[in-house]
Amino acid sequence: MPRTLITGGAGFLGSHICDRLIRDGHEVICLDNLITGRMENVAHLLDHEAFRFIKLDVTEYLDIDGPVDHVLHFASPASPVDYQRLPIQTLKVGSLGTHKTLGLAKAKAARFLLASTSEVYGDPVIHPQREDYWGNVNPIGPRGVYDEAKRFAEAMTMAYHRYHGLDTRIVRIFNTYGPRMRPNDGRVVSNFINQALRGQPLTVYGDGSQTRSFCYVSDMVEGLYRLLMSSEVDPINLGNPKEFTVVELAHMVLRAVGGPSTIEFYPLPTDDPRIRQPDIGRARARLGWEPTVEITEGLARTIHYFRGQLESVN
Ligand code: UDP
Repeated sequence: MPRTLITGGAGFLGSHICDRLIRDGHEVICLDNLITGRMENVAHLLDHEAFRFIKLDVTEYLDIDGPVDHVLHFASPASPVDYQRLPIQTLKVGSLGTHKTLGLAKAKAARFLLASTSEVYGDPVIHPQREDYWGNVNPIGPRGVYDEAKRFAEAMTMAYHRYHGLDTRIVRIFNTYGPRMRPNDGRVVSNFINQALRGQPLTVYGDGSQTRSFCYVSDMVEGLYRLLMSSEVDPINLGNPKEFTVVELAHMVLRAVGGPSTIEFYPLPTDDPRIRQPDIGRARARLGWEPTVEITEGLARTIHYFRGQLESVN
């Protein structure tokens, strides 16, 4: 039974990865300090004999008993609203947290997988974004705390690979959505759905012509698992290459939810990337992976989840 440790395991993505690992016969050690993760995301796993939860800040010293086969570093605030509210923690978990988790992987001779991000490309001048593009990031802007932390994390991961011979993987995750996102995480999909379900106006920032490409969480988890089990040391983009403007997304959500909501326009946040679409040629060729869940289907499942959440609160 492989023994796999995941940081940020109670987060949106992390908890879906825990599910997948348990399903595929791993013993899972889930670390989270719960500043953006939530116990309810892993509550259904707590009684499972192969699952262990430890509340821990991974920027502190990590002491784990026994062997570890894989270390997955997913801890970080990841929504722009969260990382701008938690700038120091974001910088620390991407830098100190990456160093600590790499150190743990080295001590255990474990395989290490870093959750990096499309934000390493910043406001990109190359479109779609390929892994050999070095990006266009403002280091001192409000998003710099996340972007530079993840860029540092990639550099650190490659240093451990090159200088310590650590077996490493780097995934650059593009916008992902689905059940277990926090309704108030500030992201566009969760905001729009929750606004539409409450009959409130949808808040489009800027003129809504900026683009994003949205990957449903089950597709993302499949790609992540394939990468973990592969021998690919180079960074790999994972995301859905179908690109939409933010206004198009607003209309899709309005159609899917129905109800009285309208659209209201607000100022565009500083350094908000104008365009984003992953080139997934590398993932297709090396992992045999591509997304399969259409946006209409993914939105329907996510709306179902948030509707249930709202009903349980009311
Ligand atoms: N956005 C929006 N309304 C919202 C939340 C976000 O128009 O209520 C826009 C945001 O300005 C950005 C895009 O939607 O252009 C995606 O934002 P998100 O926070 O989901 O993630 P990002 O891709 O910027 O990291």
